[in-house]
Amino acid sequence: MATTETGAAVAPGRLFIGGEWVDAASGKTFDTVNPATGEVLTHVAEGDAEDVDRAVRAARAAFDEGKWSGMDARKRGKILYAIADRLEARADELARLETLDNGKPVREARMFDVEGAIECFRYYAGWADKIDGDVIPVPGPYLNYTRREPIGVCGQIIPWNYPLQMAAWKVAPALACGNTVVLKPAEQTPLTALELARCCAEAGLPAGVLNVVTGFGETAGAALVKHPDVDKIAFTGSTAVGKIIQREAAGTLKRVSLELGGKSPNIVLADADVEAAVRGATSAIFYNTGQACTAGSRLLVEEGVRDELVEKLVKRAGSMRPGNPLDPKCRMGPLVSQEQLDRVMGYIESGRSEGAELVYGGDRPEGDGKGFFLNPTIFDRVKPEMTIAREEIFGPVLAVTTFKDLDEAIEIGNRSEYGLAAAVWTRDVAKAHRAAAALRAGTVWINMYHTLDTASPFGGYKQSGYGRELGKHALDLYTQVKSVWVNLA
Ligand code: ADP
Repeated sequence: MATTETGAAVAPGRLFIGGEWVDAASGKTFDTVNPATGEVLTHVAEGDAEDVDRAVRAARAAFDEGKWSGMDARKRGKILYAIADRLEARADELARLETLDNGKPVREARMFDVEGAIECFRYYAGWADKIDGDVIPVPGPYLNYTRREPIGVCGQIIPWNYPLQMAAWKVAPALACGNTVVLKPAEQTPLTALELARCCAEAGLPAGVLNVVTGFGETAGAALVKHPDVDKIAFTGSTAVGKIIQREAAGTLKRVSLELGGKSPNIVLADADVEAAVRGATSAIFYNTGQACTAGSRLLVEEGVRDELVEKLVKRAGSMRPGNPLDPKCRMGPLVSQEQLDRVMGYIESGRSEGAELVYGGDRPEGDGKGFFLNPTIFDRVKPEMTIAREEIFGPVLAVTTFKDLDEAIEIGNRSEYGLAAAVWTRDVAKAHRAAAALRAGTVWINMYHTLDTASPFGGYKQSGYGRELGKHALDLYTQVKSVWVNLA
């Protein structure tokens, strides 16, 4: 068992299949690294196709026996409430574990990631006994009604940027609707998903209803997507992998929902409250070290306010010193991995070589060189066709571009293959709503950024994916409708 810098031990992780903790069939394990130190935190089982098959069989059996889908819906809801209570009882510990594995500031892990996961389970607990059908007034002596039934075995593949929260967004609605699940967390951050499984078991979730297989995407993830006994795949991750998943799922015509990348425009009009816009733009790009699919990575600024805005942004970025994420005062942690750091540094190089003006950062903070830290980075005079204005960087790198009027802002904003989120800052209510309607994105914020809630739908336009998670919309992802006809003649 490894010990961390602070002396805390992190137990190795095993697979959770059919209610049991087991090793991978191959006996293999892989390391998970603390991004703040670069040191190995612990190791976890390396599941592959054989383990996925075991997990799917457990999920299939649990589904077909009806011990979960056939349970009184209200009782299912009670178990989901109990899962939320277990998460809450362990909230500080889970936040710390998330920080050790992912590198995000522990205060944010506690306030957003863990709190968000708790809320998500409570929200869907409330839905469990409210998923009803309709009676349809059909012609003839017939009764026609609909039932909303679970889909079956759901394979859920999640990324490393919000590990516990992404697990909750997927698992909670799937369980509320009566499905069974095989969850594949990201290889960079497998630990909190295993703790979620522990909380579920402690809360009384029957064996086999939630299974967790840790492992790599090309092996464990791919096996889940291809498995003939999996009825649905829900995926959050990169657009490139989303395309592979859609192709691979076609072989068995699984239902697929995809929440993918983004290159979200954050538009500041000249009449905006500049101080608020600066605060918003800073958190839009630097929150979670820019490793958010909704990151406001393109800041589009009306010409008249550009100088003031950029000057204030640079000042604010200067006050954001990346540091030890376990420190409760830390506001910016490291990137998740060396690979991610190298990728982001590559984009910074491309910004420089394509002629954007680096006005802040672009380098690593001074220190002992340990951990995957990077300073907040701002490029000004970015042209929309430059690589850093087009491709998702997934790091703390902001591209500032100016525009002349709202129409041009919308045109530039929509000039992207992505369409996950967008924001507009203005005091003009008509312009705000015009922009909200014209921006091709699944979420539009007006005079705010990054706000999400379990009750409000979330998902992408264009190549940011399809399907809406959260809110009542997620129930559509995890149910299918059956039409029942009765002859009354
Ligand atoms: P990132 O590039 O940010 O690491 P990915 O899209 O590669 O994001 O990863 C998101 C999730 O998808 C992870 O759990 C990863 O293991 C999984 N994954 C990666 N490649 C595949 C694949 N070919 N099939 C299924 N899952 C995959």
